Amino acid sequence: QPLIRIEDLRKIYHVGDQEIHALSGVSLTINPGEFVAIMGPSGSGKSTMMNVLGCLDKPTIGEYVLDGHAISQLHDDDLAIIRNRKIGFVFQSFNLLSRTSAVENVELPMLYSGVSSKERRQRAIEALQSVGLGTRLYNKPNELSGGQQQRVSIARALVNNPVIIMADEPTGALDTRTSVEIMSIFQRLNDMGKTIILVTHEPDIADYAKRIVRFRDGRIVEDVDVQNRRIVA
Ligand code: ADP
Ligand code: ADP
Repeated sequence: QPLIRIEDLRKIYHVGDQEIHALSGVSLTINPGEFVAIMGPSGSGKSTMMNVLGCLDKPTIGEYVLDGHAISQLHDDDLAIIRNRKIGFVFQSFNLLSRTSAVENVELPMLYSGVSSKERRQRAIEALQSVGLGTRLYNKPNELSGGQQQRVSIARALVNNPVIIMADEPTGALDTRTSVEIMSIFQRLNDMGKTIILVTHEPDIADYAKRIVRFRDGRIVEDVDVQNRRIVA
């Protein structure tokens, strides 16, 4: 069973009396364990696609089935529950709470999942250790480097054991060497079986994926399996 099945999905924004077709009939299937890079020029629909895939926004028309759940038909409350359970988000700008320690940032997604505070702390510590931040548990974001902050946000994305990690330009604010470190973490997670969907402008970053889906004018114009012609440095 595919993890994601999208059928002729459309997203139309209404601005004044204008209709903006951000997605104009997208069909896409993603299986468990895939590592997909979404590419395409500015305005081609990548963010809209990520918002729909990430259950932040619903399609105007078309079917989206995520891990057996028909997302298109859900009410917003149920959408939020599915999102919190199924998806871990990583952003370009980290989106960490600045007055809050690394471990407390990582605990956030568990706040409404009925986990005891003791177990929350335990799981957050383990998630931070798994990304090499076991010695930075009680530091605040401004006491951490960009790469360390992104590791915190990866730990936060992992802590509810989601079926998918969605990363929107996760290396956009990082230098080349740090980008390689962060992408190596995604690669390791994928090697362990985690499904990863990544948006990036950078071909070097997309090279870490096994499949590249290219958007243009709200449509998929290319969908390539690059697993067998990936250059491993
Ligand atoms: P990308 O992420 O590839 O740059 P977007 O998904 O952000 O593309 O945008 C696709 C199209 O939809 C663009 O024409 C953009 O201006 C438009 N769009 C995106 N979000 C909104 C919105 N909230 N309201 C109106 N138009 C939007
Ligand atoms: P970037 O810095 O990578 O561009 P943004 O901060 O602009 O990322 O966030 C991208 C999208 O994700 C936006 O539509 C935003 O509303 C949404 N978003 C931001 N933070 C969260 C969050 N913690 N949970 C769910 N959605 C979020």
